[in-house]
Amino acid sequence: MELPFAEPFRIKMVEEIYQSTREERERWIKEKDYNLFNLESQKVFIDLLTDSGTGAMSDKQWGAMMTGDESYAGSQSFQKLKATVNAITGYEYVLPTHQGRAAENVLFSALVKEGNVIPGNSHFDTTKGHIEFRKAHAIDCTIDEAFDSELIHPFKGNIDLNKLEAVYKQYGKENIPFTLITITCNSSGGQPVSVDNIRKVKALSDQYGIPIFFDSARFAENAYFIKEREEEFKNHTIKEIAKIVFDLGDGMTMSSKKDGLVNIGGFIALNNEELYKKCGNFGIIYEGYLSYGGLAGRDLAALAQGLDEATEYPYLKSRISQIEYLGNKLIEYGIPIQQPIGGHAIFIDAVKFLPNVPREEFPAQTLGIELYKEAGVRGVEIGTILADRDPETRENRYPKLELLRLAIPRRTYFQSHMDYIAVALKNIFDRRDEISKGYEITWEADILRHFTVKLKEK
Ligand SMILES: *Cc1c(COP(=O)(O)O)cnc(C)c1O
Repeated sequence: MELPFAEPFRIKMVEEIYQSTREERERWIKEKDYNLFNLESQKVFIDLLTDSGTGAMSDKQWGAMMTGDESYAGSQSFQKLKATVNAITGYEYVLPTHQGRAAENVLFSALVKEGNVIPGNSHFDTTKGHIEFRKAHAIDCTIDEAFDSELIHPFKGNIDLNKLEAVYKQYGKENIPFTLITITCNSSGGQPVSVDNIRKVKALSDQYGIPIFFDSARFAENAYFIKEREEEFKNHTIKEIAKIVFDLGDGMTMSSKKDGLVNIGGFIALNNEELYKKCGNFGIIYEGYLSYGGLAGRDLAALAQGLDEATEYPYLKSRISQIEYLGNKLIEYGIPIQQPIGGHAIFIDAVKFLPNVPREEFPAQTLGIELYKEAGVRGVEIGTILADRDPETRENRYPKLELLRLAIPRRTYFQSHMDYIAVALKNIFDRRDEISKGYEITWEADILRHFTVKLKEK
């Protein structure tokens, strides 16, 4: 028999979590205006709100914390981080920031002007926020296959070259400071982008003189999928694949809270010295001096170690296998999920799961609230509430997919937790015909409304 996957680590410390009653949960979520972000964490049994900054650090990372060098300038921890980033990405210049969106803020301050367009593959919400905040536009060029949630395609994060070329032709390089490739593509379901696709995007972009940047929060998971699914790379190491990908671009932003395997942090890495200097000025104003960027020396040290661990195959194998395990259980129960199963999360197609809840009443949010009430599991809506209103017309934007995301923190939960989540969803699925009402908004912010929106039952 082939041996099943097993985590290549064991436990050294545990954290207790509280198992509440359904009665408690019904009361709590109502008190919080049906916004899952508002819940205090002790009211959540299994927290799948995000895989961002919620993972467990290794003993080596905790060890690195103790040796963090807190010098204001030129700390050894920064040198170590820089060397690690240089080795993994091939990019020479490294600018730490306090998290991924801060990296976006710094890079976009240097590059994005009013009226610009930034093509890419389903830009992440903070990324789009930083683009629109500068009165520029994010244009989604993801392949159409990505929007059919049950269609099997190995690289649903890929960019459609015809859509991209149409944008290049319409706007020209004067209005397109760069194309942004998100690896893996979070908003389209944690779906990877192939090297083949990136090579083609690069060739096309070179023709039009447009640089390529990567939003690389999950670059290691993307590299894992490339190894598993792209024949050419099956014998490459994860580190080799990551390097091949980054070689095809001009720079990257990183949220270290994902594949950095730390709880806070981010960085920018670049090849171009001029751009580095320009970004450095914004970095100093917004984040802190060039060698710490809003982080403590110990954070930089833990990140250097985390990046090294996140780009090792056995870790990635266990990470992705855990998500596949949960996804396959749900498929077995007939629950409509995005396929193939993505890198960091399960995405449930809420329109198919709750066919009786109208689109205007937020089916994905409705399912998220049901799941919380059923089992104390917290997921997150990736649907109409997240999509915000159109900045010009102020109309609700209805994205092609209305999803409930269950993001799995790294190295945090067991297989038994996955079984528990699957049964909770099955119970709701079995009574889906009785659920016909969703929610309506009573208050919302102008931008990134999902974090603070208030809702009431329809
Ligand atoms: C998380 C994330 C960001 C933003 O990073 P933060 O660290 O949360 O600020 C940007 N892009 C992608 C793809 C992400 O997943």
